[in-house]
Amino acid sequence: MSTFEEMKLDPLIMKGVEKMGFTKPTPIQEKTIGPLLKGRDVIGQAKTGSGKTLAFSLPLLHAVDPKSRQVQAIVLAPTRELAVQIAQEMRKLGAHTGVRVVAIYGGQSMGGQREELRRGAHVVVGTTGRVIDHVKHRSLDLRSVKFVVLDEADTMLDMGFIADVDYILGCVQGKKQVCIFSATMPQRIMDLSRKYMIDPERIMVNSDEPSVETLDQYYAVVKHEEKLGFLTDLLQRERPPSAIVFRRTKHGADRLARDLHQKGYQVVPLHGNLSQSQRDRYMDAFRNGRADVLVATDIASRGIDVSQVALVVNYDVPVDPLIYFHRVGRTARAGRDGKAYSFVSKEESGDFGRILKMTKAPILPMRPEDKLHTFVPGTSVHGGGGRRYRSQGGGRQHGRNRYR
Ligand code: AMP
Repeated sequence: MSTFEEMKLDPLIMKGVEKMGFTKPTPIQEKTIGPLLKGRDVIGQAKTGSGKTLAFSLPLLHAVDPKSRQVQAIVLAPTRELAVQIAQEMRKLGAHTGVRVVAIYGGQSMGGQREELRRGAHVVVGTTGRVIDHVKHRSLDLRSVKFVVLDEADTMLDMGFIADVDYILGCVQGKKQVCIFSATMPQRIMDLSRKYMIDPERIMVNSDEPSVETLDQYYAVVKHEEKLGFLTDLLQRERPPSAIVFRRTKHGADRLARDLHQKGYQVVPLHGNLSQSQRDRYMDAFRNGRADVLVATDIASRGIDVSQVALVVNYDVPVDPLIYFHRVGRTARAGRDGKAYSFVSKEESGDFGRILKMTKAPILPMRPEDKLHTFVPGTSVHGGGGRRYRSQGGGRQHGRNRYR
């Protein structure tokens, strides 16, 4: 279904969609909303940025009866940030329906959430640990749930939440519609689907590739100790309104954030050693533009929806190529332009070679000297044939137009 009108959604939900300014469904929405409205179970392979939140939220809101006081739908997310974002988006979409959406997650007092639940929740969006806490304290009754969503299921399983997910699904009695969204489809997800889903419709939106049309990807071969200077040069030149710089370790993220701060950048870190209130404060600063650079580790940043990230930098190359696609997928979202740069030290060239092999999209050398054929022996390292690269003379100085 290529328009929202064809989906025949409740007009009150459509009002929310229109208010949010969405006029045309994204590919994942085109494919999933129809089967979900018909009551089918769905496994959707889609990354953050594809519009998956709306893809499950519209049919979920459609299925909920606001006149009943029972909890009818539950959405499980791997991180608090993602749970909050989903709840916010769903509240906006359902603003005219009378459906009450409550977010419950760790790091906040149980009491306040208990009160929210007591006042009536039709939809609960939460992280697994806290959902279980509320079930055990009898402040949340899942028996009448008829719509279950597992969002970023692969991350939830990576973070060790499989037993939690199992427990929660076990609390839901009777017939339920189950919808799983995941960027990758490891065996454990298929096992989970066999256990809880009936003849699910499997939907893929061109695997985990970033949207090539609007994302420009580059790499540079840089000695480890030169990366900081290279990064500040890049930020100086590009002056992105917002940038996420990825590091492999918490310690590395912290140190880089400190170094950038000392150089005068408005920068915030995001990693697992921060308290929830620090994370909230820093994310707020980044979202509101008080900080323009976020230095993050992979786990801490999973699921974060910051619209309009102009630039992603892989300060360290991830060992797992899929993480590369997750990282660069933070930019160029929903049709917007974005750029991703990877700084590759000699030691990381093997890891980067695997990324180059996996992607059909061109990742171009930033400078002539970066064109390392050693990455993928015998083949061109920039599969796109130098689509955008325009050399403006040799040397190491970087002119602003050198990259486009
Ligand atoms: P998600 O993949 O759910 O994190 O969504 C990524 C971004 O796309 C969010 O900022 C959404 O608000 C936005 N979005 C979702 N659906 C649409 C649509 N149909 N048209 C334009 N933007 C959308």
